Amino acid sequence: MSQPAEAVTTEIMRHTHFINGAHVEGSSGRFGDVYNPSSGAKSAEVPLASRSELETAIGLAQEAFPGWGGTSVQQRARIMARYVTLLYEHQHELATLVSKEHGKVIEDAMGEVLRGIEVVEFAVSAPHSQKGEFSDGVATGVDIHSMRKPLGVVAGITPFNFPAMIPLWMAGMALVTGNCMIIKPSEKDPSCPLRLAELFLEAGGPPGVFNVVNGDKEAVDTLLEDTRIKAVSFVGSTPIARYVYATATANGKRCQAMGGAKNHMLILPDADIEAAANALMGAAYGSAGERCMAISVGVCVGDEVADKLIELLKPKVESLRIGPSLDTGLEMGPLVTGEHREKVTGYIEMAREEGAELVIDGRGFEVAGHEEGFFLGGSLIDHVKPSMTSYQEEIFGPVLQIMRVGSFEEGLQLANDHPYGNGTSIFTRNGAAARTYADQVEVGMVGINVPIPVPLAFYSFGGWKASAFGDHNQYGMEGLRFYTKVKTVTSRWHDSHLNAEFSMPVLK
Ligand code: NAD
Repeated sequence: MSQPAEAVTTEIMRHTHFINGAHVEGSSGRFGDVYNPSSGAKSAEVPLASRSELETAIGLAQEAFPGWGGTSVQQRARIMARYVTLLYEHQHELATLVSKEHGKVIEDAMGEVLRGIEVVEFAVSAPHSQKGEFSDGVATGVDIHSMRKPLGVVAGITPFNFPAMIPLWMAGMALVTGNCMIIKPSEKDPSCPLRLAELFLEAGGPPGVFNVVNGDKEAVDTLLEDTRIKAVSFVGSTPIARYVYATATANGKRCQAMGGAKNHMLILPDADIEAAANALMGAAYGSAGERCMAISVGVCVGDEVADKLIELLKPKVESLRIGPSLDTGLEMGPLVTGEHREKVTGYIEMAREEGAELVIDGRGFEVAGHEEGFFLGGSLIDHVKPSMTSYQEEIFGPVLQIMRVGSFEEGLQLANDHPYGNGTSIFTRNGAAARTYADQVEVGMVGINVPIPVPLAFYSFGGWKASAFGDHNQYGMEGLRFYTKVKTVTSRWHDSHLNAEFSMPVLK
């Protein structure tokens, strides 16, 4: 029987797995710690599944597959439509779970949940979008049609920074197309993914179709190696994305693996600098910079633009409204863990040692009454140079680096030379410059006077270069293609005699 996500209520909540429609306690004896980043206190333990726990879950998902894969696409879409309704009804509850464990402020968490729901809304269109093709009469009495079949049991491995949206990117498209899924969420914030799986069951999804198994490398490696897993969708940091892609594909699986980012905003002298500064505030410091589409580098064409931008940004960064994530009206919460905060502060120190100018140093920031929380103030760093390690690597915190270039071409080259290529933005009033940038920049998602160009659910999400490995983007028609394989049938229904043909068949 299903039990609440907080199955064992001692002082510290202990999470479960959600397998075959029920909460299952972990049996490996290994647990990870989950924190409340606003207080800095440990709030829960999450079980870290063993290989054999994963193998049991995969087996149960495989048993559910013939029934779910054989259900008509319209019936699956109806269940997804009910799921959408439930997700809206529970949007605030889901956002609260996200906010409590991740630390992003509640309004931001509401937005995250909404962006996830939008993918499930798109998934409801599967009776139309999953249609195959048909060619009538390609030869006498011969027709061809193609169909898109589900793959079987698929895996989703998700990062800490979007514990609602990214599981929904994956589950929305994988489930409506007839696959059964095992999500292995980040061990830092597992509450929301567990609740998402419960709600799918409540919407009428059969047991075993949407499973959540918590774990670490042992769980991931089992998913990458088990031959019953047909595809792996991964979102996380680049070193792990590279490893997941190499291992999954070496084991014959389909794989899409999204990695880290360093997103540039190019600001031309003709831009509305005030608008660019406001856009940078949200894009760099929203969600404490823990977004793969955060703008972490502002590239100014000319010193005049840079000086003006810094002058506008400085008071805004100094007065960022920072506090406990569930308080309303705030702009930034804490970072996800103390360990992650240390990594970010390490990069701030590195930038200083490398010779960049710390215009605002967010280290040492405290929120009264929450001194143990994982808070960090916003940092603003000027005179960053391409050779600096703090520029080459992803910081993933509330740190905005400013660079100065001499021309549009130099700014474009800078973005193209960076190893990451997730998102980018240009602020300008010059249509031709904007168009050239969008055309020539080696980055997967581009904004023109838009700071965070995350594509809507009916487009698809994916970076270039070291930001994504594999051939298909997340969600949209790309997601649908990732989770289905094409079968093409050539049929002949004609009364005439069929002669033996020894040369390659061609249309006659
Ligand atoms: P992470 O790579 O540490 O973890 C991601 C997942 O991989 C988690 O489920 C984790 O348990 C698992 N994992 C961690 N170490 C592993 C190992 N050694 N072997 C196997 N599995 C392992 O990433 P994170 O810190 O949770 O998330 C932040 C990162 O994700 C940032 O780099 C961010 O840019 C990136 N991200 C990218 C996108 C995108 O679409 N490109 C979206 C969101 C986040």
